[in-house]
Amino acid sequence: MNILVTGGTGYIGSHAVQRLLREGHRVLVVDNDFRGHREVIDLLSPTAPGRLSFREVDINNSAVVADAIRYEKIETVMHFAALAYVGESVDDPVRYYHNNVTGLLSLLHAMRDSKVTRLVFSSSCSTYGEVSGDQIPVDEDCPQNPVSPYGRTKLQGEQILLDFAEAQRRAGREFACTFLRYFNVCGCDRSGVLGEDHEPETHLIPVVLRTALGQREYIGIFGTDYDTPDGTCIRDYVHVEDLVDAHVLAMNAMKPGVGAGQVAAYNVGIGRGYSVRQIIESARRVTGREIPVREMPRRAGDPPQVYNNPKKIREALGWEARIPDLDEMIRTAWTWFEKHPNGYRSAVAQR
Ligand code: UDP
Repeated sequence: MNILVTGGTGYIGSHAVQRLLREGHRVLVVDNDFRGHREVIDLLSPTAPGRLSFREVDINNSAVVADAIRYEKIETVMHFAALAYVGESVDDPVRYYHNNVTGLLSLLHAMRDSKVTRLVFSSSCSTYGEVSGDQIPVDEDCPQNPVSPYGRTKLQGEQILLDFAEAQRRAGREFACTFLRYFNVCGCDRSGVLGEDHEPETHLIPVVLRTALGQREYIGIFGTDYDTPDGTCIRDYVHVEDLVDAHVLAMNAMKPGVGAGQVAAYNVGIGRGYSVRQIIESARRVTGREIPVREMPRRAGDPPQVYNNPKKIREALGWEARIPDLDEMIRTAWTWFEKHPNGYRSAVAQR
C-alpha cells in the first residue's frame, strides 16, 4: 500500500515508518521538522530503496499536502503530526489548537480533495481527563472530559472526524477512521536504529535514563503522598513497537465503505500500571547505575493512577503487547540512550 505518515520523523511516527517499510509498503513522510528529526529519513531510506519519500511541509499547508498525496497515490493516512506536551499546551493553547485541530482540518481537506478514505488518528488517554477509581482500568466508554488544552485538541480531533465520517456516510462516500488513544508510550526500536529524542524532554523514562547517563543530577519524583501502594503515580507504559502494532492492525482492519461502523476507537495500553518508583527501580536494574532521586511536590494535573483495559483492542483487533515486561521496555530505551547520548546528533556523528 501507499501510506502517508504525517509527523513521520518524530518519535512514534518514525517507528511506524520503519515498520511499514519492513512490511513492504511505500511511505510518504510529511513533517515540518519542528520537533522531528530529519536524520530518521537518512537512517531508514537505505533499508527500503525507492520506497520512502519525504516532504518537509507543515500539514497546515493543505494544497501542498494534497499534491503530494496525489503524486504518491496515497491510499491510507497515519496522522501523528501534533504537539504533545500537556504543560506547554496550558501555556500556549493557541499554538496547540492551531497545530492539532487546524492541522487535522487541513489534512482532511487534502484527503477529501485527493479522495483518500482511510485514516488512523493518534488520540490520547488524556481525552478522558481525571478518571475516578471505579473507572480504572479505563475502557473506551469512559466519559471523555479532558483537563488540558492538549487533551481537548485530541478530543476535538475525534469529534471532527466523527462528524466528517457521518457526512461522508450520508453523502454515500467512503470513509473509515480509527482513533487510537495512547497511554504512556515508551521504549525504542529493538534493532537500535530509532530512538526517543525530545527537546525539551519531560517524560519520565527518558529523564530517568538521562539521569543514569549523568546528564542530569537527579530525577525528581513529582509527589510521594498519593493514595497508591508506594505513594507515587501509576501509569500504563506501552512499548512503542506494540503501539505501532496497534496501528498496523487498525489499518488492516479498516474497511472503507458506506454505512455504519466506519469509525472505531481503541485504547492502547498494556493493562497494568507501574509507579514512578517502580520505573526508577527498573532503570537501576537495567542500567546498573545509581540514579539519584529527589522527592518533589506533586505536579499539577497529575491523576494518581491510570491504566488501560485492553479488552476491546484485544478482542476486535487481536492486539496483545509483545513487550509487556517493564525491564525489557526500559532496556530497549537504554540501549539507544547509551549509544546516542546526544540523541540523533550522535547517530549522525557515528556514520
Ligand atoms: N514524573 C516524575 N518526574 C519526572 C517526570 C515525570 O515523577 O521528571 C511522573 C509524572 O508526575 C507522572 C509520571 O511520572 O506521574 C509519568 O509522567 P510523564 O510526563 O512521563 O507522562 P504523563 O503520564 O504525564 O503523560
